Amino acid sequence: AHEGILRRQSARESAARTYARALPIVPVRARGLTIEGADGRRYLDCLSGAGTLALGHNHPVVLEAIRKVLDSGAPLHVLDLATPVKDAFTTELFRTLPAGLADRARVQFCGPAGTDAVEAAFKLVRTATGRSGLLAFTGAYHGMTAGALEASGGATDGRVARLPYPQDYRCPFGIGGERGAELGARWTESLLDDVKSGVPLPAGMILEPVQGEGGVIPAPDAWLRRMRAITADRSIPLIADEVQTGVGRTGRFWAVEHSGVVPDVMVLSKAIGGSLPLAVVVYRDDLDVWQPGAHAGTFRGNQLAMAAGTATLAYVREHRLAERAQTLGARMLDQLRSLATEFPCVGEVRGRGLMIGVELVRAEEDREAVSPGSGDFASLDTAGAGPRPAAPELAAAVQRECLRRGLIVELGGRHASVVRLLPPLTISDEQATAVLDRLADAVEAVAR
Ligand code: PMP
Repeated sequence: AHEGILRRQSARESAARTYARALPIVPVRARGLTIEGADGRRYLDCLSGAGTLALGHNHPVVLEAIRKVLDSGAPLHVLDLATPVKDAFTTELFRTLPAGLADRARVQFCGPAGTDAVEAAFKLVRTATGRSGLLAFTGAYHGMTAGALEASGGATDGRVARLPYPQDYRCPFGIGGERGAELGARWTESLLDDVKSGVPLPAGMILEPVQGEGGVIPAPDAWLRRMRAITADRSIPLIADEVQTGVGRTGRFWAVEHSGVVPDVMVLSKAIGGSLPLAVVVYRDDLDVWQPGAHAGTFRGNQLAMAAGTATLAYVREHRLAERAQTLGARMLDQLRSLATEFPCVGEVRGRGLMIGVELVRAEEDREAVSPGSGDFASLDTAGAGPRPAAPELAAAVQRECLRRGLIVELGGRHASVVRLLPPLTISDEQATAVLDRLADAVEAVAR
């Protein structure tokens, strides 16, 4: 069955399919961290539905919540009508929201995907401000629909201005650290103060507190606070995209809580649906300027997703899984950093909580091969401590070697050179050790 399914799907499915190309497995059963393939092989799944599975696969409380709805005879499709299931979800969601937003929040159900909520957030701030431009950041990922795509990656378009996201290791200014972040903040300020030309202010700024697809790059708290101050001073709504960072992943329930920044708008998806599709925008009540019915959509009322989501949010809160992510994540980062000292092909190891990235780089002697203007300005670094060229081929090799050892990891970063770990927050100490052992073996195999 295994080979046949793989063969038929690769023949019939679009070349645009993503994960399936690098991960030729046929999952048939799953529980927690573990996936079992049709060939009987078992894998530790550190992709977790791209960070969706906060409680891992088929967690009993999630299954129970879904069964309860199915057994109750409740309707599964009711457009966006009010139901007890939606009421419970909204109550639990509001309970988790950051202080400063929780007491003045409105929720808009979008859906079913994260990108739908991003679109709704853009439309909301454009409606609220009467302006159209947006500020987004290099390396950002917000989704694949037209508006979200405009605000993602490096390309720019007339309505979206791109600003440098603060990055230590591959700082676009070749400085890194606080000075690099400060320079990025001043660039932002200078852009916004350049109003003489009569160009209107943007309708909003969207950022990820930790870039995920961009290569697991945590923004410094001080930089986030600067962005909050810069946007607040100019009445520009700040949109935090917590699609991937939310629900305890980074060590706080929402990643913005590390910095104390209260965004005007939050975009939430992935884990909030407890493994089923669900996406919402949460925003401060004074932004609720919609004309009634101004934002429609058939699939904004997924009852099973709301039930699974309620169970997940409550479980993460009650079992303090954000704190668990914080302590276990710190330990995993420590151990991975010793991997970086052992193997020269491991560049920077970074992350926050259980959102971890390991960048693969080329050997020291290739450093000169990078010229100024290549994008990373690596050669500006004369001290020798700067980044070496990204090595996407090594990252792909590590991913393959991991799979051979029964470990599923994802790649990311603007050069696809970052191995990403997004394990469920329920991962045990022993499982975390097994993950790190397999990853270390894979790196060793590639480094040889
Ligand atoms: N924003 C962020 C930060 C994401 O990581 C993603 C998905 N990886 C999205 C938006 C888009 O979500 P979806 O794939 O569900 O449209």
